[in-house]
Amino acid sequence: MTFRALRVDKNDQGTDVRFVDMRDEDLMDGDVTVRVTHSTVNYKDGLVMAGRPGIVQRYPMIAGIDLAGIVESSKHPGFAAGDEVLITGFGLSQTHFGGYAGKARVPGAWLQKPPGGLTRAEAMAIGTAGYTAALCVVALEEQGARPEQGPVLVTGAAGGVGSVAIALLSASGWSVTASTGRQEESGYLRRLGAAEIIDRAELSAPGRPLAKERWAAAVDSVGSHTLANALAALKRGGVAAACGLAQGMDLPATVAPFILRGARLIGVESVFCPMEQRLKAWRLLAERLDRKKLGEMTQTIPFARVMEAGADIFAGKVRGRIVVEIG
Ligand code: NDP
Repeated sequence: MTFRALRVDKNDQGTDVRFVDMRDEDLMDGDVTVRVTHSTVNYKDGLVMAGRPGIVQRYPMIAGIDLAGIVESSKHPGFAAGDEVLITGFGLSQTHFGGYAGKARVPGAWLQKPPGGLTRAEAMAIGTAGYTAALCVVALEEQGARPEQGPVLVTGAAGGVGSVAIALLSASGWSVTASTGRQEESGYLRRLGAAEIIDRAELSAPGRPLAKERWAAAVDSVGSHTLANALAALKRGGVAAACGLAQGMDLPATVAPFILRGARLIGVESVFCPMEQRLKAWRLLAERLDRKKLGEMTQTIPFARVMEAGADIFAGKVRGRIVVEIG
């Protein structure tokens, strides 16, 4: 029996990404075999499908950094045939075959069961982007940030991380300022829970070392000048969680916000994040993420359209999240 997969190969021009047929014996080692039913398209998936270097570490590779499905067979004590499972990160699409395939064989230690009655489709609507947004919220709360201290800034607001962050933070009692380059998405961002919308141009140009104190906290998926300006506008003792680089990998900031206002900058990494912290983020998602809002931010596409969706997210044209129906 064969199944479809999206394979990335290296060639003289760079990489070649195409649909292929695979068999069980083509899968990598692991103690659990999963029939993949759903995956998603994250920014990183867009980079891989666009042939950008730096993510895929070995070739050939099966793309897709996330997957959800049903266990077909297991030698791992924590999982049995028929269990619903999900994986985000852990090197899928980097060093291990990923979720854009009818099946995956993986170490059971990477698997989780969808918490709180989340369906497999909802788990992928959340995916790495949504779970990273939750890790950011956990990071802010662990630093003692509280809604009564002032508003929170979310950058890259209409993207995947941004959309989930807005929904989670507003559900947690925060007054959310959403920074977006797409003013036409203001209605969408307000429905997710944003109280104020600002043009991302306010933050994306070089700014002063310190600005007027505006936000008690920030979730930033954009990096570069945007993060520098967010830090400069944090209130005294404010905290920013940084997880992305949609504007750039640079951080053209000064130490002024740290030494004059006690600002804190927390890095958030999702791929190899320890299971204990992952489960904390997924519990928060299961408890606080409004399923209706999750539905509003999600579009579902067939596997055959995954390359188009990859090009769209790479071009900054995707609003919210995408679920890919694999099985
Ligand atoms: P999306 O493409 O869905 O969202 C990114 C958003 O950033 C866009 O929608 C856009 O929002 C904004 N944006 C895009 N280009 C620019 C620009 N030049 N200047 C300012 N803003 C810009 O991606 P994701 O939400 O999936 O991921 C966001 C970032 O987070 C990526 O860099 C990704 O690699 C990173 N990431 C990191 C993780 C980690 O483990 N640390 C995990 C997951 C993601 P708008 O249109 O509203 O302005």
